[in-house]
Amino acid sequence: MNRNPPLDVKKILRDEVGFGCPVQDCGRPYLEWHHFDPPWHEENHHNSEGMIALCREHHIQADNGAFTKKQLHDLKRSGKDNWRQISGKFNWMRNRLLAVVGGNFYYETPVIFQFRGQPIIWFERDENNYLLLNIHMLTKDNESRAYIQNNEWYNVGGEEDIECPPSAKKVKISYPNGDMVSVEFFELNTIDDAVKRYPDASISEWAIEFPITAVEVTNIVANSGLEFNAKETKFGEGNIMKNCFSSHCGAGLVIN
Ligand SMILES: [Zn+2]
Repeated sequence: MNRNPPLDVKKILRDEVGFGCPVQDCGRPYLEWHHFDPPWHEENHHNSEGMIALCREHHIQADNGAFTKKQLHDLKRSGKDNWRQISGKFNWMRNRLLAVVGGNFYYETPVIFQFRGQPIIWFERDENNYLLLNIHMLTKDNESRAYIQNNEWYNVGGEEDIECPPSAKKVKISYPNGDMVSVEFFELNTIDDAVKRYPDASISEWAIEFPITAVEVTNIVANSGLEFNAKETKFGEGNIMKNCFSSHCGAGLVIN
C-alpha cells in the first residue's frame, strides 16, 4: 500500500479544511496528508476519518507528536471555519497574475516556465478561483526531487530544504547540489505599486487591471548552466530581451 492516498480520499480531506491548513492562523494552501488514527506506522490505511490535510510544516510537527488525536479530530471538524476566518489573508491568490521571469513580464499566462515542451512551473485555478501552484523541478541527473502538483506536495522527505512562510507568499525548494526553485508573490494593488516594484518597465502602456499579484520566479539547475530569476536569464548564449510585456500567451519563458 502506497502512502499517497487515492483521489477521492484527498478530495474529502481537502474539502474538510476548506482551502488551507486547518491549524489556527496557518492556512497555508500547500498540503500533505497526515495519517493519525491510527498512525501510518501502526497500520497502513487511507481511511479519511483517521486522516487530515496539513501544510508541510504542521505535518512535520504532527509527526513529532505536537497534536493529540483529539486535537486533530477537532481540527477536522473546525478546519473549514478556521479557513473562512483567515481567508482574507489569501485574497491575493484570486487576483490576476503577472509573471516576472528573466526580466520579462507575462500577464495572465498560466504556464510560467516550459522546458522542452513540458511545463515546469505553472498555475491552475480551483472552483473558487484560487491559484493552484505546480512546480516540477528540473535536475540535470534525474535525481529524485520534491514537487508540487495543484498545491499538493509530493515526494518530500529527501535532501530538500523547503521554505514556505505562513503568508504562503513564498515557496522555495533547494537541494545540496545547488538545484533551486523559488516562487514569490507580491500584491500590487495599484499601478503605483507596480511602478515602484518595476521602475524600468513601461507599465502605464500595458493593458492590465489592478489589483494584480506579481509572481517572481528563480530557478537554478545545477551543473547545467540553466539559471534565471525575475531580472535575468542565463543559459547558452545568454538572453537578449528585457522588459517585454506579453499578455495571455501559451507560455512565458520557453526553452526548447
Ligand atoms: Zn499549517
